Amino acid sequence: MTDTSTRSADGRDVDELDIAPENGWNALFLDGEWVPAGDRDLIDVENPATRTALTAVPSATEDDVDEAYAIAEEAQSAWGQRPPQERAAIVSDACALLGEYADDLEWLFAVECGGVELKADFETQLAQGTMEVGAGLAMRDGGRRKDSVTPGKENLLVREPAGVVGVITPWNFPLYLTSRVVAPAIALGNSVVLKPDEHTPLMGGLVLARVFEEAGLPDGVLNVVPGYGHEIGDHFSGHPVPSVMSFTGSSEVGRGVGQRAVGAYTEPALELGGNNAHVVLPDADLERAIDAGAFGSFTHQGQECISINRHVVHESLYDEYVAGLADRAEQLPIGDPREEGTLVGPVINESQRDKIVGFLEESVANGATVEAGGGHDGLFIEPTVLSGVTSDMPVACNEHFGPVAPVISFETDEEAIEIVNDTEYGLSGSVHSTDVARARDVADAMETGMVHINDQPLNDEPHVAFGGVGASGLGRYNDEWIMDTLTTLKWISIQREPREYPY
Ligand code: NAD
Repeated sequence: MTDTSTRSADGRDVDELDIAPENGWNALFLDGEWVPAGDRDLIDVENPATRTALTAVPSATEDDVDEAYAIAEEAQSAWGQRPPQERAAIVSDACALLGEYADDLEWLFAVECGGVELKADFETQLAQGTMEVGAGLAMRDGGRRKDSVTPGKENLLVREPAGVVGVITPWNFPLYLTSRVVAPAIALGNSVVLKPDEHTPLMGGLVLARVFEEAGLPDGVLNVVPGYGHEIGDHFSGHPVPSVMSFTGSSEVGRGVGQRAVGAYTEPALELGGNNAHVVLPDADLERAIDAGAFGSFTHQGQECISINRHVVHESLYDEYVAGLADRAEQLPIGDPREEGTLVGPVINESQRDKIVGFLEESVANGATVEAGGGHDGLFIEPTVLSGVTSDMPVACNEHFGPVAPVISFETDEEAIEIVNDTEYGLSGSVHSTDVARARDVADAMETGMVHINDQPLNDEPHVAFGGVGASGLGRYNDEWIMDTLTTLKWISIQREPREYPY
């Protein structure tokens, strides 16, 4: 059954949408052509809210991956030589098209990703932001001149495109997490082969191919091969052609991707999982801390690498904090993301639901108390607040990736820091205090790539360095930091007068 009864945000039927999946682009995108499935297997894409079929896309094979890399390699050099303003203009045009299609995208976010309107708007803005910043990189002078220790020599550092960039992305913020690599890569003169997640091949890849095609990107510069990670992932990430392997996803898969990439002399850029803590010190503004805590835990059902995974709250505020958070959780409207006013939609699939519910049930069996929520129906999990949580409970020591807020109590700032750092992850975090210097001391001691004082961890700004330490990844995304990854510096020296050699 196909989910055709739905309407877009502006009231059009699905078959009237410009980017409805049945308009011929639920295909592979190779060398500027939409390649239908032929005798390939299909990936069935399901609406997680209704559990009905949305569409099916071809499942790329290892041969398709080889072909995509060969096409990208062939296309790169001509593209890299195009004037920077031309490359920037195409990325800017693709960015503008995302704005034009915002209503269609909102519908697709709902039916493919289970994302509510708020999240759709937020993600579209982020995708546009990263495309604007990415386009600007084309014109950024990255080269340098360095004095030489050798008389008569001039040293030049020339910035060149890295070459072919392989991109693997997850399902949770598919359009943004894909755009944040594809846009700067293309602007900087690289070509790209993209493997979106099998749950979100449209928003994670084919939508971008569609808008870049319309923006006039030359054939072969962007190629999209939807496929199962367990089928083509090893071949994709260990391939000899790409110079950069950009991976966003779980730490477990990312470790293997990084190892295979390095084995093929490909530079890995890894954005991985998190176990982010929201620390509430005894002098915090309680209402602000609770507001931030609810937003950081329940937005997009807690399915972000930078969601709050643990609330770490001083014992003097603990009961009030738990009660306030439970109150917020109970008020959040839960349902089909296409229904107006919905703030909590479904989680992406059964295996994620089962994992989250398993962590919850085991933690309750180990002594945690459900203060709000706790139930589930289909792929909908109620926003849940747990008190009496300790660091060793499954909801706290794992990345639960669900609408679940485990609250842990502490006595001293030192103990809070110990709890925060008791994880292999180190992505984001937050600290609440009315004494900014005290919050700053805690932020300094947190072993993470990012910390937000008097806010919550869910922050990403396309012009600010984003990334983690430890099991949360290698390298930084956004602006000049991703530019370093997506380009290579060549040292060219010019010996302007004869040099005296020792023999
Ligand atoms: P996942 O690792 O299971 O899948 C991510 C991608 O990897 C998918 O495209 C998948 O098909 C592919 N893949 C699977 N096996 C592969 C293999 N052997 N080789 C190559 N690719 C393979 O992750 P997920 O469950 O889809 O996403 C959630 C995870 O992503 C969470 O851990 C989350 O924290 C993390 N994440 C991190 C960031 C960040 O910026 N740090 C952002 C979003 C999500």
